[in-house]
Amino acid sequence: MPIYEYECRGCRKQFELLVLPGTDPACPACQGADLEKLLSISSVSSDGTRQRNLGLARQAAKKIQRDKAHAEHEAYHHHHH
Ligand SMILES: [Zn+2]
Repeated sequence: MPIYEYECRGCRKQFELLVLPGTDPACPACQGADLEKLLSISSVSSDGTRQRNLGLARQAAKKIQRDKAHAEHEAYHHHHH
């Protein structure tokens, strides 16, 4: 799928856009068509993005564990007071 990253020359907004054949990309913010094409997402989305996502998932899992441990700690104290 041809997903491209653009920067709007009108408002400098950067966005990703799926460009269908026969359609002209336009800025979602100002509807401007004066766009600068940046790197293709699909060609960049290999390892960097995946590893970052993995890292975020790990962080989230760690946080959940911490919250759980905290909750168990609280429960312990409630039971023993
Ligand atoms: Zn714009």
